[in-house]
Amino acid sequence: MKFNIATIPGDGIGPEVIEESMKILKRIGEVFGHEFSFQEVLAGGVAIDKTGEPLPLETIEICKKSDAVLLGAVGGPKWDSLTGDKRPEKALLGLRGALGLYANIRPAVLHDALKNASPLRSDILGDGIDICVVRELTGGIYFGDRGRRENGKLGVEAYDTEAYSVGEVERIARTAFEIAKQRNNKVTNVDKANVLESSRLWRSVVEEVAKEYPEVTLEHMYVDNAAMQLIRRPQQFDVLVTTNMFGDILSDEASMITGSIGMLPSASLGEGTLGMYEPIHGSAPDIAGENKANPIATILSTAMMLRFSFGLEQEAKAIEDAVTKVLGKDYRTADIMSDGMKLIGTKEMGELVLEELV
Ligand code: NAD
Repeated sequence: MKFNIATIPGDGIGPEVIEESMKILKRIGEVFGHEFSFQEVLAGGVAIDKTGEPLPLETIEICKKSDAVLLGAVGGPKWDSLTGDKRPEKALLGLRGALGLYANIRPAVLHDALKNASPLRSDILGDGIDICVVRELTGGIYFGDRGRRENGKLGVEAYDTEAYSVGEVERIARTAFEIAKQRNNKVTNVDKANVLESSRLWRSVVEEVAKEYPEVTLEHMYVDNAAMQLIRRPQQFDVLVTTNMFGDILSDEASMITGSIGMLPSASLGEGTLGMYEPIHGSAPDIAGENKANPIATILSTAMMLRFSFGLEQEAKAIEDAVTKVLGKDYRTADIMSDGMKLIGTKEMGELVLEELV
């Protein structure tokens, strides 16, 4: 099969980690008989330098026409003084909006070989962590009505509004149940239905959608309890589904449990098969251009792309297995290095994963 991928290397370590991922995809193509074609486009700081805009129209057009988008990272100190719509990070929000990507999928997997990297005790980690956070991405309080008013109870006050429509909740709930079907058939809905009206609607809609998935077990948890349970007994979770703001916070907490930011991939999905895939880390300007970045988060993002946008499960698994094997042979980039392990750079890590694919 033939797939067109728009690549956005972006800033800092972005180009380095994208390069390794493209090599892996090319090899997957050779091994499994697919053709991946890449079209590089501008976004972030590099786009500001070349065009004056963090997200040029041409980038949006090319991404819309592609089968999937692979992004490195955007931003860096060079553009820190810019404000509002001119900031590199605006490119991310702009792309999500333009491509209609409303579901953010963040798996938090603790590899057996990296148990030492987790801040949690090994008795809590048990035989490993494999959680998938499904976060609503385009609604809720981050996009609701906001403002300031003079006549607050104690003077000037500011407000932000949390609002969700039935349709918005239905589609994110379906995404979560579909993903749970491919995993361990369990969805934990996280809300604050004891206090918030928006959460009460959210919960009732999730319950309605659950009726379409009798094979999946649904449980509800208040967000404060979920934050606690993630640390207390993380193995109880399979898929967590939640709102934009709760998901923002809980997905970072879940990532931290796995230890390294350089290991974690993400996907943003919408109605069709077009998705945007990116590591959860930023542009790491402190190590950019030094062959020190861990490319695994981006490599695993390509595995998600194969799974969610192209329906290539076997090929996705091949990449994930190759990463596990390289870690099992004690190779580590600096961010996941520990005593007795073999320190390698970005390119070497990419090469070793490549070798395990054949
Ligand atoms: P960061 O994720 O870039 O870096 C945090 C720390 O983690 C740094 O010490 C960095 O060296 C390390 N790190 C990150 N990724 C790594 C990797 N793959 N391998 C090894 N070490 C890695 O976060 P930050 O420092 O807060 O932000 C730097 C810039 O990136 C800022 O301009 C920020 O706005 C931007 N940012 C972009 C995205 C994105 O593009 N999705 C996300 C977060 C931050």
